[in-house]
Amino acid sequence: MEFNDDAGLDTSQVEDMRSSGGGVGGRVLLGGGGLSIVGLIIYFVMSQFGGVAGLDGNSASGLGDVTSGQRVDNARISEQCRTGRDANTNHDCALVAVINSIQGYWRDQFARSGQTYQQAPTNFFRGGVTTGCGSATADVGPFYCPADSEVYIDLSFFTQLQSQFGAQGGTFVEAYVLAHEYGHHVQNLLGTSDRVRTRRGPTSDAVRLELQADCYAGVWANHATTTPSANGGPPLIRNITEDDIRRALDAAGRIGDDFIQRELGGGRVDESQFTHGTSQQREKWFTTGIQSGNPAQCDTFRTNNLG
Ligand SMILES: [Zn+2]
Repeated sequence: MEFNDDAGLDTSQVEDMRSSGGGVGGRVLLGGGGLSIVGLIIYFVMSQFGGVAGLDGNSASGLGDVTSGQRVDNARISEQCRTGRDANTNHDCALVAVINSIQGYWRDQFARSGQTYQQAPTNFFRGGVTTGCGSATADVGPFYCPADSEVYIDLSFFTQLQSQFGAQGGTFVEAYVLAHEYGHHVQNLLGTSDRVRTRRGPTSDAVRLELQADCYAGVWANHATTTPSANGGPPLIRNITEDDIRRALDAAGRIGDDFIQRELGGGRVDESQFTHGTSQQREKWFTTGIQSGNPAQCDTFRTNNLG
């Protein structure tokens, strides 16, 4: 995946809180601490509603009081990340570019259907964070909080995706994760999140919501190289390769419920506890989005065949 050197970046879509991260529930977390199994479970439950369900539905470890203050300091990012050229050489800037592209696509897509997209920032935090959905530690993984309409991520998750889930790295793998979270934002704006009644099980609304977010991620990917940058300039993303897509599909497969239960959760697959869908389903809906480029093809709520 490469960025257009001349495309302009909009760093206002990111809130960098990493310099103020720190004490959570009396512990000092500096990221990279490892995703515990309990943390994994919370990650799933949490992402069920893109965030809020885990926070109000599960108060086990991973959630606690953030004891240190947090503040946004975008000085470094706004200094370093000005164009696609910076995104090609700097990891933070690449993520800014990806977030710009995802939101650029949805802004245009909403406009095409006579609706208004509301921009949502992504918060980079380290260790722990307080959100409109409560406090969270890095253990919960990336999430979207519907209450404040913001995305939260401790970037050490991307390292854990490789070290613990066995995924391959790469910017497009990270883009898939971010695009999935923005899929939850789109669902929130469209009111889809409110349709969730059943929260667990292989055909639950929660699973349908998650698979739709995967599909929406794919829809963005389909349009990524043609979505103009914020100022109407050249597209931020110059190309996405077959290898990028293969890696992202592999990552999608490694965060399927069955894979995680089998490989990381003790070996037994219990469908009744599914919240995100199987590996095969996640790959299928991401692919549906990539191939169709059409959000209407992501109607996981009406289909009898989730895959
Ligand atoms: Zn999700």
